[in-house]
Amino acid sequence: AATLGTAWALDWIARATKVVSENRIELIELDRAIGDGDHGENMDRGFTAVAAKLAGAEPASPGEVLKTVATTLMSTVGGAAGPLYGTAFLRAAKGADGDLDAAGVATMLEAALEGIRARGKADTGEKTMVDAWTPAAVAAREAAEAGAGAVQAIRAAADAAVEGSEATIPMIATKGRASYLGERSAGHRDPGAQSSALLLVAAAEAAEA
Ligand code: ADP
Ligand code: MG
Ligand code: MG
Repeated sequence: AATLGTAWALDWIARATKVVSENRIELIELDRAIGDGDHGENMDRGFTAVAAKLAGAEPASPGEVLKTVATTLMSTVGGAAGPLYGTAFLRAAKGADGDLDAAGVATMLEAALEGIRARGKADTGEKTMVDAWTPAAVAAREAAEAGAGAVQAIRAAADAAVEGSEATIPMIATKGRASYLGERSAGHRDPGAQSSALLLVAAAEAAEA
């Protein structure tokens, strides 16, 4: 498809729910190393609730799907990630009342990133999910400006998020729970950056399906 619509958004979230569930233990272990070990549980609980909320719903736009995701994650995930992802999906929903072309994908990801930054006050290099969302939004915008289609734009974003997550490994955390460890946080991947990469890969796979 040249643009990404409601069916894509529903497939994205179905795939996200599955991948979060499949990676629950991995996310728990990442968070156990530099946090309190609940990130996999928090995310799995949240997306299970999202899936239940969307089952039987008849959203009319990608934005409606993402708004349901936002409100459900806010009330079920808890911790730091709940409000961060809630804000991200709420901002993402705002510009998505119609089908998304490549520029629309970029705008959606930029809005999500701005929501995370507004809520968490983290910049890049602080070993948080910002380090996955920032390269993702940049890559989508670059793809759109280079004339790529929506599917290529979301794939570029997903690949950049995977690299961004990987790049958190040597970082020293200066925001969130991992910052309590100081230099001992280096050598571990940030759990929120990893869950963000999983979510964006799910978005790309839904677009390519
Ligand atoms: P908690 O730390 O409350 O247990 P989670 O384990 O669910 O919450 O989520 C932790 C993740 O949240 C971190 O790995 C990081 O990516 C993200 N995070 C924490 N604080 C911030 C922040 N201020 N800005 C952006 N992301 C943050
Ligand atoms: Mg935690
Ligand atoms: Mg916690």
